[in-house]
Amino acid sequence: MTSTSNERTDSEREAPESEKPESALETARRQLHHASNHLNIDSSIVERLKYPKQVHEVTVPIKRDDGSVEVFTGYRAQHDSVKGPYKGGLRYHPEVTRDECVGLGMWMTWKCAVMGLPFGGAKGGIAVNPKDLSTAEKERLTRRFAQEMRDVIGPTQDIPAPDMGTDPQTMAWLMDAYSMQEGETTPGVVTGKPPVIGGSEGREEAPGRSVAIITRAACEHYERPLSETTVALQGYGSVGANAARLLDDWGATVVAISDVNGAMYDAAGIDTRTVPSHDEEPEAVTQYATDVISNDELLELDVDVLIPAALGNVITETNANSIQADIIIEGANGPITSAADTILSEREIPVIPDILANAGGVTVSYFEWLQDINRRSWSLQRVNDELETEMVAAWEAVRSEFENQDISWRDAAYIVALSRIAKAHSARGLWP
Ligand code: GLU
Repeated sequence: MTSTSNERTDSEREAPESEKPESALETARRQLHHASNHLNIDSSIVERLKYPKQVHEVTVPIKRDDGSVEVFTGYRAQHDSVKGPYKGGLRYHPEVTRDECVGLGMWMTWKCAVMGLPFGGAKGGIAVNPKDLSTAEKERLTRRFAQEMRDVIGPTQDIPAPDMGTDPQTMAWLMDAYSMQEGETTPGVVTGKPPVIGGSEGREEAPGRSVAIITRAACEHYERPLSETTVALQGYGSVGANAARLLDDWGATVVAISDVNGAMYDAAGIDTRTVPSHDEEPEAVTQYATDVISNDELLELDVDVLIPAALGNVITETNANSIQADIIIEGANGPITSAADTILSEREIPVIPDILANAGGVTVSYFEWLQDINRRSWSLQRVNDELETEMVAAWEAVRSEFENQDISWRDAAYIVALSRIAKAHSARGLWP
């Protein structure tokens, strides 16, 4: 059953100041409002961009391994498609909600626009704890979700990708279920697939690689040689581990990394290749650590660069005053609440936003989609070279806005994204 609605929920009409924790949608709305004050664009376009084009909500029943039936709820929030098909991840997490998908879908719109990709923004998810499901149950859940969403996804309509709790195998099941129903192999319906069925080389490492490239660019901007830079990363999944290893290779000293149980700290520097990432061996960081500190302590370390690369909303007004890092790079989507963002900006701690820093994932998704359309794969070298070119170009566009106006890096990235989207909206117009 699909119920499609573009009605506004209560929390979309007003975002109460006191509500805790702040939802991704509230944060995304505040950021949009803040950035639009610095930009001379038609206010009716900003008004349109506050709301998703549509949100699909589906019931996903599956048979558990014990024969019982359990019913889950799935969502796909499609925010804006002025530049091309909707694009964004699919998340399996117990706290997935409609509003979270809308907020994360808005960020995808800006992320694709900052990178100059011909995609709009979307996000989907199922409210489920994937750790509670067997592999067979996850497969049934994914295939049923694909079936329920069949009419609203597609290679020219909306293209899901991995996100929290989903991986290349999830994308393979989704692609297979969709292709079986369409009667033709359709690799371009998802990205982040295994390369053997049309996935791209370098896609899994891409978000971490872009975080590392942007960290290097930010260090250069603030005249800090990487060889004299200490880095703490929260999270050692595909974003955190890949960013940590590249920065380590490029000469930085990675002093802290973490998993959900705590953090490894070594002031002399961690040999990042000797610690398995979450994908290689789940929750291995604390098992390999001799000196364990908490995730909260990691965030407050006196380091040059802090990279929150795990969950959203980890830097809040409660700990923003205790942050000692000189530069923050957002590896996760939405790790800093709006209140914390204000405090950090008053404290003049630069924050390089998620929509730029982790945009390597969707950029290589775009490369994957091109490879699928052309039925021809690229070498890893080509993927990494083109990713480097795109990241440096996006960094330069954002840096030029940052330097032209007295604004935050986040506002600069929003201005680049919003002005591109606004121009496309005014060129296409409002019809009928
Ligand atoms: N889930 C990733 C993100 O938040 C990737 C999205 C994509 O590749 O479509 O950027």
